[in-house]
Amino acid sequence: MTYEYKTPTISTKCKNCGKVFLKSKSKPTQIFCSIECQKGYYKRGQNPWAGRLPTGTIGEIGELKVAIDLLGKGFSVFKALSPATNCDLAILCDKKKLKTIEVRTGNGVMLRNIKLYKEKRVRADILAIVDYSKNRIIYYPEELI
Ligand SMILES: [Zn+2]
Repeated sequence: MTYEYKTPTISTKCKNCGKVFLKSKSKPTQIFCSIECQKGYYKRGQNPWAGRLPTGTIGEIGELKVAIDLLGKGFSVFKALSPATNCDLAILCDKKKLKTIEVRTGNGVMLRNIKLYKEKRVRADILAIVDYSKNRIIYYPEELI
């Protein structure tokens, strides 16, 4: 006697594209309709432009986001005119002292960059990390901002 075994399926909505797809009951945690959707979703967690814009442009957007945040905190903000400088931004503190800022963008860069800073391998006074996955900017060391 032969019988055809059919894997039971359940329809669900892809977390990336919204398309309804059939997932196997043997994979109850499946949330994406395809590998492409899975990759696309996690790339967007890094920043909304990953894979769509050149990295230089994405870096520039990060710098502008930090500049806007610092302007909102009441600082006078200065921006480097050349990409080949020791820092991306500078702020005027106490009306006379400039503090330099290095901006880093992306997911999972926080701990790595804080480590580099502690090892004195970041030449700027302050590290600003744009974390797109949580839509926040982290400053290190925090007390300088
Ligand atoms: Zn999908």
